[in-house]
Amino acid sequence: MTFLYNGQESFDGKRRTPFRGSGDRMSGYPKTLGELRRSQWSEERIANRTVRQEIRENLLQQMEKDDDLFPGVHGYDDTVIPQIINALLSRHHFILLGLRGQAKSRILRGLVAFLDPQIPYVAGCEINDNPYRPLCRACRDRIELEGDATAIAWMPREQRYVEKLATPDVTIADMIGDVDPIKAARGGRNLSDELNIHYGLLPRANRGIFGINELPDLAGKIQVGLFNIMQEGDVQIKGYPVRLALDVLMVFTANPEDYTARGKIITPLKDRIGSEIRTHYPATVGEGMSITQQEAWTSRDGKRRVEIPGYVREIVEEVAFQAREDKRVDRRSGVSQRLPISTIENVLSSAEQRSVRGHESAVVARVGDIYAAIPSMTGKFELEYEGEIKGADNIARELIRAAVGKTFNKYFANVNFQPVVQWFEIGGELKVPDNASSSELLAQLKKIQGLLEHIEALGAKPKDDAAIQAAAAEFILEGLWAHKRISRSEERGFFAEARKASEPRDPREPTGGRMPRRQFN
Ligand SMILES: [Zn+2]
Repeated sequence: MTFLYNGQESFDGKRRTPFRGSGDRMSGYPKTLGELRRSQWSEERIANRTVRQEIRENLLQQMEKDDDLFPGVHGYDDTVIPQIINALLSRHHFILLGLRGQAKSRILRGLVAFLDPQIPYVAGCEINDNPYRPLCRACRDRIELEGDATAIAWMPREQRYVEKLATPDVTIADMIGDVDPIKAARGGRNLSDELNIHYGLLPRANRGIFGINELPDLAGKIQVGLFNIMQEGDVQIKGYPVRLALDVLMVFTANPEDYTARGKIITPLKDRIGSEIRTHYPATVGEGMSITQQEAWTSRDGKRRVEIPGYVREIVEEVAFQAREDKRVDRRSGVSQRLPISTIENVLSSAEQRSVRGHESAVVARVGDIYAAIPSMTGKFELEYEGEIKGADNIARELIRAAVGKTFNKYFANVNFQPVVQWFEIGGELKVPDNASSSELLAQLKKIQGLLEHIEALGAKPKDDAAIQAAAAEFILEGLWAHKRISRSEERGFFAEARKASEPRDPREPTGGRMPRRQFN
């Protein structure tokens, strides 16, 4: 089950047999209105059971059983989820306000798990009419004519979620419907006769959940249409009044600033949205890491053993945290959780590429792979003017370096790396070609005095294979570079930092520049 994004697994994590229309799988279900009346889906139980009531009842039941209500959603247990539950218990339409990549769509889609597994509707009805309370003229006429023999079809819950991304060009016809003059002429009917309506998305979501993403982008006229449907069940199509008392749970998402900006949302619509719930990014690197781990494709299908060391995962996650705080990154659009997710995938691919080309047995990700993954980061944040001047690639590089520095501090707060620094100061340099094998790299790293003795703090042991040890040692050098204790360049690799007035440096004591600005909060 995916958190944020467009994963298509079952909504509640349980296996469910796919729906096959009214074929053999539905054999136990009533097929006519008469059978339905005598079944557990009696008129008494179903006729007035709205979708919001249905969700409320099922939610209460699931809470009684201590079910995991939003499986795969992390970090919202004490904030967002209780508010959503309150909205659902109140039978409210609601809106999720949050920046991109905060699991808003995932949560809305997850609401499907609170619907009944199957509901009956009048077979063939375009708007899924309740057999006991049909809205459309066609169904009313049919039940009048066929009575208890009227055919009943069944709709699985997965089909009861309809979603639309709002854009300024969405029309009333898309959303609500249109009248079809040709149909009317052919049938000799009046234009406002509802048999002439070509239904839009909202009526087709009747008896289900209708999600609209980025509500403020919807034209005012459409918002009025939505409001009318929510309020009165009346709507005007091309000037003709049409009665459509739809039964829908409406859920929305919006960027908080757009939503609160004056004039973006018509007041009566805002007034009808029962709850406004704010989403947020993961509060801690650890929470972010569990989301990323869940979402990212890291169980590769190759023949090689794959390993992403914990510190590499932490750095990748920290990049997102750094970006969210960085003044050069536009805060109104936010930095999606998709940044660390696609970055970690690319990091692993970079390691995979190195390993396969070098004919090595294991794939072990290194800090260098994070720099190689910059193409998967730059599209995930919008830059402010100052950032634009610098360029997205450079900003990404700085974010990685800052993230390396911060992660380094977590592992090595009180470690003295003076011997390593000294090795460079007395002229040592480390330049290893990109295509060097792990054992070649490790052999070079071993020459640096005092370096390898620290890799155990990163979980690497002297017995581990060269790739794991080399990755850990490289992280230490990157960390020292992040804190400006040694230098690094494309041409020379790692070398001594240009001499300044001598000062004993603690990695936690910033020495100026941008990077050390970010320290523990
Ligand atoms: Zn109907």
